[in-house]
This record gives sequence, structure tokens and C-alpha cells, in this order.
Amino acid sequence: MSLSTEPRDRLRIAIQKSGRLAEPARALLAACGLSWRESRDRLFCYGEALPIDLLLVRDDDIPGLIADGVCDFGIVGRNVLREQDGDREQCGRRTVFRELRALGFGACRLALAVPESWDWTGPDQLAGKRIATTYPALLRSWLAKNAIDADVVMLSGSVEIAPRLGQADLVCDLVSSGATLIANQLKPVATLLESEAVLAGPADDFEGARAGLAELLLRRMDGALRTRNSKLLMFQAQRSALAQLLPLLPDAEEPTLLQVDGADRLALQALCHGHLTWQRLEDLKRAGAQGLMVLPVESMLA
Ligand code: ATP
Ligand code: ZN
Repeated sequence: MSLSTEPRDRLRIAIQKSGRLAEPARALLAACGLSWRESRDRLFCYGEALPIDLLLVRDDDIPGLIADGVCDFGIVGRNVLREQDGDREQCGRRTVFRELRALGFGACRLALAVPESWDWTGPDQLAGKRIATTYPALLRSWLAKNAIDADVVMLSGSVEIAPRLGQADLVCDLVSSGATLIANQLKPVATLLESEAVLAGPADDFEGARAGLAELLLRRMDGALRTRNSKLLMFQAQRSALAQLLPLLPDAEEPTLLQVDGADRLALQALCHGHLTWQRLEDLKRAGAQGLMVLPVESMLA
């Protein structure tokens, strides 16, 4: 099977073959109504429900595949996308991909971490130090922005053990829970980038059949992303209680009000985008809500 960049009518999305983003990326695409025929070589999955195919690759390859036009979209960490963007910029090449949507999973940050014994006083302390990282472009641009002259030690992995091996004085690495840093007697002191998985696409707009498909996918993805954090809240109340109830729903869209019993009794239904905790339900009840019900939202199309 050839994966050339010749004109085609189908869309291709690159996702991580295995790793932290692989499963959530598939789940999100499935929530957009996509389905695939699994192939035996596990590189290419033919799209069945829609003419949208999957390419299963290493996350580091995703921006390049978009840049070369082999893929139309990719689901990748912002850290990888920005690093490769920064790398292109530092080599004087044009930006060819852009972040289209933040996807709400794979959250982490790129941070500087120093040995626990350091007394951290600020970035100036880094002058002349050796910093181990797999993100040299992002680190260099941060150092330049802060006017710090430090050595960037480029490693391909296991950055967190570099100080103990004497390869560097500190590290610049991805952190989520911080457990890896603690295990290596390091502490985070500065954040260079807040990251999560993103939908990346080319800097230029699509043309032909792919433009319509891309638009459909983005619309469905917006629906899927909103649905994921949304709940439908239903209850009844006296009309006179509305003034106390509505301020308790700051994250709700314009509620639908139905008159139930005479002029005073209302049934209210509101789509809420925040977390509906027990505490909030109890507050609503105290303010006059009755028969409170919270329902999951299956699909949404604006
Ligand atoms: P590949 O084989 O595809 O190259 P990888 O080892 O580079 O895999 P993973 O470790 O699966 O990649 O991480 C993928 C992405 O998950 C990272 O680029 C980052 O955006 C995100 N991520 C979230 N938390 C962390 C973390 N604690 N450490 C590393 N990456 C994290
Ligand atoms: Zn990788």
C-alpha cells in the first residue's frame, strides 16, 4: 500500500500507535462517528463509516507527516507540535502546521527541574549550567527570552537521570504527576509550556472534497468535546424561586422553561458544562428545586 501525497478524496488522520494518547485519541474519533477496518500491518486503518482513514505512527512523526501532506490531521501533544514548530523556525523554515483544537486529555507541562538540594532563586541561577532535555527548541527559545546563557544537552530519552549520571546539572522535561521527578530527587521550578493533546492540521485550508470532510469532522469533534463535559439538568420549581435558582447555574446554557401546573409551577431543563457536584444539587434543592435529575448527554449538534 502506498501512502503517497497524490490528490485524494479521503481524509487521513495520524494518531499515536501505542502510548499515552493512543486510546483516548481513538475514543474521541469513535465518538465523532468514525469507524475503521483494522489492518494486519497495523499502520493503516481504512475508514468505514466515513472516508476518513487512520495512520498509526510514533507521535514524533505526526507533525512531519502533516508537513509533507501525507496526513491531513494528527492528534499529538502540544509539546511535540511546538517543539517541531520551534525547530523549523530556528532553521529558518516556514510554519506548516497549526493547532486546531485542544482535546482535554494527555495533560502535562514542560518544566525545568533542579536537584532537590538546590535553593531556587530564579532563572538567573541557570547561567552557565548544563540542562538535559529532549525539547531543545522550546528550551532554547525560553532561554533566549529570559536572556540566559546555558548549555543545552540534547538527549533522546531518560532525561530525568542525567543529573545523577553527571551529564547535566538540571533537566527540562515533561511532568504530569511529578512522581518521576520525586523518584529522581528533582523538583520542578519553572513551567515552559502547558500541554495537552491537540488536533493539528496544515496551516493552509483544504480544497476539494477534503474541505467538506474536514469541516464535518471538526463540527462533530466540537460536539463530542462539548458533550464529554456536559450534563442535562432537569427539575421543577415555583416561578417565584427562579431568581434564587438561576445564579446557581452559572455554567448552564439558556434553560428551557415549561409551564406545568397553572401559571406558577415550572419544569426547567438546562444544559450544564461544569461539574454538577452533590453540593450544587443540595444548594439548588434549598433554593426551591424539586425532583432534581442529572442526565448524561449522548450527542450534540449545534
Ligand atoms: P512514541 O512511541 O509514540 O514516540 P512516546 O514515548 O514519545 O511514544 P508517550 O510517553 O506515550 O510518548 O507520551 C505521549 C504524549 O503524552 C507526550 O508527548 C505528552 O504530550 C503526553 N504526556 C502526558 N503526560 C505525560 C508524562 N508524564 N510524560 C510524558 N508525556 C506525557
Ligand atoms: Zn515519541
